[in-house]
Amino acid sequence: MSSGANDSVSRRETLAATGTPVLPARVSAPVHRRPAIMQEPVLVLNATFEPINVTAVRRAMVLLLKGVAQAEETNHSEIHSARRAVRVPSVIRLLAYRHIPQQTRALSRKNILLRDRNTCQFCVRVFSASELTLDHVVPRSRGGRSSWENLVACCYQCNNRKGDRTPEEAGIKLARRPRPFTLYTSRQLMRLIGHRDEKWRKYLFY
Ligand SMILES: [Zn+2]
Repeated sequence: MSSGANDSVSRRETLAATGTPVLPARVSAPVHRRPAIMQEPVLVLNATFEPINVTAVRRAMVLLLKGVAQAEETNHSEIHSARRAVRVPSVIRLLAYRHIPQQTRALSRKNILLRDRNTCQFCVRVFSASELTLDHVVPRSRGGRSSWENLVACCYQCNNRKGDRTPEEAGIKLARRPRPFTLYTSRQLMRLIGHRDEKWRKYLFY
């Protein structure tokens, strides 16, 4: 890795630490004090243009500065580093192809809630993460496994109502059959996050 790349990273760290880019004296452009922009979502494409992830502007800038990715789409804002002004990326593409395994998401509470969009799969109401628990559709006492297909987001009220029974026994219905967190699910989420950004659409096959 060249020293130039290290410079880039430390410059990014400076940006992250202060929240406001440092302007060299000779640049006359107005300073945009918008640290919130560093948290804006950026669509990440594989080298083949296949959408693979959503990241924040801050992380995307690091990938650009390291030369790992290039910007495919930018928005109207600019970020001023010590040496230059950089357009804020909206879509970036990795320069080297990265193999993405079919099942990229670990089975975790966080990912189950993400898949189910913080929606109780029985009463179909949206809750905050702390108001949700995980329900084994087929209870563990009946041999139900802890798997993508048997775990769903569930509010405490529905969880109590269901108890140690199957949905049929409890007389409640699952909103939809739970599925593994596949690339398809990820893409659905990308669409949700990116629906306000026109520039994402052509990459997400609208
Ligand atoms: Zn519920």
